[in-house]
Amino acid sequence: MQNIHVALPGAVESPASCRPHELVELIRLDPALRLDVRYATAENFIGRAVYPEARVLLQRPGAEALVRINRRLKGLGYGLLIFDGYRPWSITQLFWELVSEKQRPYVADPAEGSRHNRGCAVDLTLYDLMTGREVTMPSAYDEMNERAHPDYAGGDPEPRRMRELLRTAMEADGFTVYPTEWWHFDYKDWREYALLDLPFHAIV
Ligand SMILES: [Zn+2]
Repeated sequence: MQNIHVALPGAVESPASCRPHELVELIRLDPALRLDVRYATAENFIGRAVYPEARVLLQRPGAEALVRINRRLKGLGYGLLIFDGYRPWSITQLFWELVSEKQRPYVADPAEGSRHNRGCAVDLTLYDLMTGREVTMPSAYDEMNERAHPDYAGGDPEPRRMRELLRTAMEADGFTVYPTEWWHFDYKDWREYALLDLPFHAIV
């Protein structure tokens, strides 16, 4: 894997001595990880595909943690269903341009970049191993309102229980939930990686 630190016009400088990136394809690491890459379909808040390929990549330490978490959840009857991982910086910029002022707290400011741009954030939920169906959470993925907050106390108890199960499992292995999105988790070493704008086809 090449070590490419991309200089991004308009974005914060990446640390001068950041860790070399090693983006790994999750399903190559463990085919048991299930994907539903909404940004490669029209089923997302933009309403059209913004990724040319349905791939999820993360920096190796976070990717390996996800494999462990998925294995532990299996014993409880659940699996991880992954929506997104590494996101090229130019897609973050596109999201910022397309959302309304009210929606801006729910998308990353491209001037700072997203932890997804560093390959250190993942969006995911749980599915039931018996039925194969995605579990019901307090909000839909990418819903931009208070139901998406991980501390939202409304709605039915069972979706909140599922949300807590996901959060507990993720936090036990180095991930931290985002304050306005129950589905978004940052891996602990995200500061050590540069913002990247590598297109998916450039990552083999
Ligand atoms: Zn996210």
